[in-house]
Amino acid sequence: MLDYIIVGAGLSGITVAEELLCRGKTVQVYEDSSQSSSTVAGGIYNPVILKRFTLAWNAGEQLEISIPFYRKLEKKLGVQLIFELPVYRKFNSVEEQNNWFTAMDKPGLSRFLDSKLETSVNDCIPSRFSFGKVRSTGRVDTAVLLESYRKFLISIDSLVSESFVHSKLDIREDHVDYNGEKAKNIVFCEGFGIKDNPLFNFLPFHGNKGEYLIVKAKDLQLKEAVKSSVFILPQGNNIYKIGATYDNVDKTRDHTQKARETLLSQLKKMITCDFEVVGQVAGIRPATIDRKPVIGKHPLYSSVYCCNGFGSRGVLIAPVMAKQLVAYLEEQLPLDPETNINRFNKTT
Ligand SMILES: Cc1cc2nc3c(=O)[nH]c(=O)nc-3n(C[C@H](O)[C@H](O)[C@H](O)COP(=O)(O)OP(=O)(O)OC[C@H]3O[C@@H](n4cnc5c(N)ncnc54)[C@H](O)[C@@H]3O)c2cc1C
Repeated sequence: MLDYIIVGAGLSGITVAEELLCRGKTVQVYEDSSQSSSTVAGGIYNPVILKRFTLAWNAGEQLEISIPFYRKLEKKLGVQLIFELPVYRKFNSVEEQNNWFTAMDKPGLSRFLDSKLETSVNDCIPSRFSFGKVRSTGRVDTAVLLESYRKFLISIDSLVSESFVHSKLDIREDHVDYNGEKAKNIVFCEGFGIKDNPLFNFLPFHGNKGEYLIVKAKDLQLKEAVKSSVFILPQGNNIYKIGATYDNVDKTRDHTQKARETLLSQLKKMITCDFEVVGQVAGIRPATIDRKPVIGKHPLYSSVYCCNGFGSRGVLIAPVMAKQLVAYLEEQLPLDPETNINRFNKTT
């Protein structure tokens, strides 16, 4: 009998798999490429919400756990995953500058906001009101992470590249049966695909579609990420991701003309050099109604679990949630009430 079936090999599925494998557990992971959030993500980790200059939820703790987690995976997989990437916020008014300095006095924020403003970051990104630098930022190459972790799972015969069909799951008292395979437990890590999971579709996921434009801009020569109305994220070789958009209504997977036009108009206001659009990507962020992750046990079945709800911050959140869920599964340690799925049970 397997120890665990895991459904989904995005950030959630691979962090859960890794935590379990490190404890000597056996896993079988199903992945069908029906969702793309982790693949298209900018991969930025940044402890500060740059719209309001507030600390992102539990960001300090998440940095301490998640960055060493990715460093360890770099060694295991033999690939570079973490890239140093300074993040600058372009100010659009004196008021925004003042808000930055006010934020510096808030508990937990001062260590992440640089007090010295930069008058210029790049010749092609003019600003009348300077730039503020966020500390402890960077980028995880999520596409490389997913590709290399999935290869690793194949090498240990633990990846099944097909759709998990929920109607074929037979839930028994102390294990589950799927396609002739028995497992002690099953963990669903399906991102926004959870909406099609009859066991968990009672959860209040609204999902939030995000799109990036991919542009080539030879003269930009930007090494930092810069945020104004949109982020400009350097990818190397004169390629930049521009975005992302936030759309609570459209839940389709395709990229749209509307997002393209919005992002183009924002980019044109931000940079003065020429650029060429070379691509566009889209994904649905698995966002919950209270903007917190959802992890834990199904209200009725003791072998059925989920790890989801990372919204727009999966890079920092996923390793922490996977660690907590696996400690709960394997050591019966309590879950944090803020993220425990049981906060929604009363609505079922
Ligand atoms: C445009 C965009 C930009 C983003 N930028 C950032 C960023 O810069 N920093 C950051 O921290 N976060 C970012 N995010 C958010 C981040 O991508 C998510 O929080 C995270 O990827 C969610 O991971 P997940 O594994 O829960 O979901 P997903 O990535 O959606 O993974 C779920 C996986 O399950 C698989 N699956 C689902 N159903 C089934 C089934 N029935 N059978 C088999 N497989 C199944 C899917 O194919 C998918 O691979 C961004 C998101 C978007 C859309």
